[in-house]
Amino acid sequence: MNVGASDQHKKYDDSVPSFLHNRPKTVVQHCMHRWIDSENSTLDDIDQVSSLQFLVKSFNEVNKTLCYEVFLENESGMPSCQCMDWMNKHLPCKLLMTGFRQFPNSWNLIPVIYRDNPYICLDVESFPLDSAEDTSGFDDDNISEVHISSIEGEEYRIESLPIPPRQRIKH
Ligand SMILES: [Zn+2]
Repeated sequence: MNVGASDQHKKYDDSVPSFLHNRPKTVVQHCMHRWIDSENSTLDDIDQVSSLQFLVKSFNEVNKTLCYEVFLENESGMPSCQCMDWMNKHLPCKLLMTGFRQFPNSWNLIPVIYRDNPYICLDVESFPLDSAEDTSGFDDDNISEVHISSIEGEEYRIESLPIPPRQRIKH
């Protein structure tokens, strides 16, 4: 376990945004690099298509008309960006960072399944919260019981169907 990097043991520099606190060192290093790269971005660099979707201007000086489509949550329920950095690492890229800078609530709109992913979290942090959420969710809707009974019913029906006669093989 990576206890050394948690809040209790380390004071963060003011330059480290709060969403990077209590994350593995490699993730913080990766993200801080992109966070600093997005430092000079302005609202002119980003179009908010919806609360979950941005168009962010490329940082490439040569091709300033190029835009990347950035989702805080896409159709698959995950954040995404069209840039190579995101495609390779699936860690926040500088285009996502631009979104986080210009729209401060953006990080909170990223689905929890990504934000609490073990790859970007310290494993000491999230256990009590996660188990509490899971239990209350199942109590509310009883989905598991419904599924079990319907599957058993189907199996019973399949077993009692007459076996189709074999086709005669013509020689
Ligand atoms: Zn990107």
